[in-house]
Amino acid sequence: MTGIQELAAAYGVRIELADLGDWGRVRLIAEYDPNEPVIRVNTCESSLTLRQAQGDMERAIAHELYHHREAIGEIPRIRDRAAREAAADAYADAVLRTRSMPCRAASGG
Ligand SMILES: [Zn+2]
Repeated sequence: MTGIQELAAAYGVRIELADLGDWGRVRLIAEYDPNEPVIRVNTCESSLTLRQAQGDMERAIAHELYHHREAIGEIPRIRDRAAREAAADAYADAVLRTRSMPCRAASGG
């Protein structure tokens, strides 16, 4: 289980693989469904190498977790869609930065 999956689990969000269809030029890696809640990872998104796909998948899950945090009221929902998506991307970047280097915190100063 990767760090991002643990984080999702801590939020009570399930992650499942799903065929979300081929979106052609638009890449749909993951979607968030607040009803369950669940983040579905698109198994059709296979245009990348495995390593790239894993990084993109983790980033997409972190992005969708931002929307979950909105849904549960942990953070306010930004009205402007573009600003909201940018905030979700920034959150994903921050999460992956801190989560991908577990040794740094342990080694101290
Ligand atoms: Zn989004």
